[in-house]
Amino acid sequence: MGIEVKAVPKIIAFVGNPNVGKSTIFNGLTGLRQHTGNWPGKTVSNAQGSCLYNGKEFEFIDLPGCYSLYPHSAEEEVTGEFLKSGKADLVMVVCDAGCLERNLNLLLQVLEITDRAVVCVNLMDEAEKKGISVDLNKLSAELGVPVVGTSASRGIGLDRLLKVLDEMTENMEGGSIKGSLGPPSEERIRGRIDRAEEISRKVVRFSRPDYDRRDRKLDRIFTSKLTGFPIMFLLLALIFWITIQGANVPSQFLSEKFHSLEIVLNRILIEKGAPVWLQGALIDGIYRVATWVIAVMLPPMAIFFPLFTLLEDFGYLPRIAFNLDRCFQRCRACGKQALTTCMGFGCNAVGVTGCRIIDSPRERLIAMLTNSFIPCNGRFPALIALLLLLFAVRSEGGGAASIAAVFALCGLIALSVLMSLLASRFLSETILKGEPSSFALELPPYRKPQIGKVIVRSLLDRTLFVLGRAVVVAAPAGLLIWIFANVPVGGVSLLTVFTEFLDPFARIIGLDGVILGAFILGLPANEIVLPIIMMTYLAQGTLIEAGDLQAMGMIFEANGWTWVTVLCTMVFYLMHWPCATTLLTIRRESGSWRWVGVSILIPAMFGMGLCFLINLIGTAVM
Ligand code: GDP
Repeated sequence: MGIEVKAVPKIIAFVGNPNVGKSTIFNGLTGLRQHTGNWPGKTVSNAQGSCLYNGKEFEFIDLPGCYSLYPHSAEEEVTGEFLKSGKADLVMVVCDAGCLERNLNLLLQVLEITDRAVVCVNLMDEAEKKGISVDLNKLSAELGVPVVGTSASRGIGLDRLLKVLDEMTENMEGGSIKGSLGPPSEERIRGRIDRAEEISRKVVRFSRPDYDRRDRKLDRIFTSKLTGFPIMFLLLALIFWITIQGANVPSQFLSEKFHSLEIVLNRILIEKGAPVWLQGALIDGIYRVATWVIAVMLPPMAIFFPLFTLLEDFGYLPRIAFNLDRCFQRCRACGKQALTTCMGFGCNAVGVTGCRIIDSPRERLIAMLTNSFIPCNGRFPALIALLLLLFAVRSEGGGAASIAAVFALCGLIALSVLMSLLASRFLSETILKGEPSSFALELPPYRKPQIGKVIVRSLLDRTLFVLGRAVVVAAPAGLLIWIFANVPVGGVSLLTVFTEFLDPFARIIGLDGVILGAFILGLPANEIVLPIIMMTYLAQGTLIEAGDLQAMGMIFEANGWTWVTVLCTMVFYLMHWPCATTLLTIRRESGSWRWVGVSILIPAMFGMGLCFLINLIGTAVM
């Protein structure tokens, strides 16, 4: 009987400038789904995945995008360190066919370390559209390593890429890459620039010299001083308007269906002779909260996230960063914080991790500590629900009311950015003093969004993720709250003791004990704050069924809410403390619990201060 030797997988490291399609190639080869988006500085930590080809196993490592192997930033450090570590058998350098010359700097550096490299010239389709052609054979001859052309987002060329990797690793001697660059002398740097220019002259042909005229025209509109901000505001407003208009009907439909189902479930429980407490815990506790979360949050998310992802895929987010750059510089923070701010709109924990793109430790901390001012995915649905309550529902959902709600939402976003700027300024004048550093922000080309893919991905990755988290956290929370509310300790329920304890202070900032308590109990995930508020009111004996927004409005009104309460709750939603995931991320990134403490204090301080003022003025005019 022969002894079967299990082949060791070949390790292939992906290296390339940001935004050249590395993640897309990685996903295409491994079938894994790394989030791709059209902007630089996304992949900060590296992803790993494997694939079997021709009976051989490949292990791919997607290293963070970088411009050079000399460490200037966290990405370049990660990439450089990995290549030096000798863990890779082969390096695949991914380039953008549309701007090969700029990509050659990194490529030449890699080739100085090793000749075990394959060059993948990606985005061939886009280059072709711009009238740019790359002679791949000539390029291969110039560099002395294999070159493969791909259009990764369409899956073109990936097979050929695997074939080349297979051939390259076939008769490879043992041992792996282990090399280092010489010191960055003036002469070497000059040498690479000259060589890049020479190669590019030989292999790249431009048949339409004005190929990026459209992009430059668009940039003039999207980033000019005059039109940049108004367009940003209008685009945001348009997205919100579509979301708010579109979400109403499906929301109502879902809550009606859930309500009918509740009646059926209740009947079944009674028929089976279930005790009253069990029925209460299951239906009033778990079922109501879970279905409420779905009915109120799913429709707006299913509309908002795809739209937002379309903008991201189109390449608009870096333009927002560009517009905001000046504001951040003025607050003595790094302009790159505009990018991490944009990431925060998705998820604050991602925004905090993204702060690795900021080189100066001082500015990185400022960006991390102020990221939670930006409303994340988990907070948008609640903000939208509260706004609808304030405007649309009251006036029978008229068109004017929903437009008012849209502008109010834009106002809230503007407020969140403004407050994060103020907080940045505050930090840089107090505990994190210093001068802002300068940087170069790359504006990637505009790309036609892949609509089908965007819709599927944003529904799966964002909508279902947020919803899943909300339901998973909210359902047990519903049960716990039901128990707290229904198990009396010395005559009153624990929940009442807790909320009554908070009540006097909460009233000062325009909330009540239940709302403040919900923010505290909602620490695991922002998604569940509003459901907890609902649950608590219901558990405390208000005899109205939780259903759609209308019902929510009635419950809130019965518990003494006024427009001041709604406003304060919204503002507090923007500014309280980061969720548990974000706090743990801040701990990991800053390495200290002290900064975690500051990250709680700063937004809480701002939020409470603002709510106090709103309450003061609101009650005076009411
Ligand atoms: P990374 O930053 O290098 O990982 O780049 P991504 O994989 O995130 O890709 C950046 C953007 O380019 C995304 O919007 C992709 O959909 C798009 N993209 C990637 N490869 C191609 C391609 O071959 N052709 C076109 N037209 N778009 C691509």
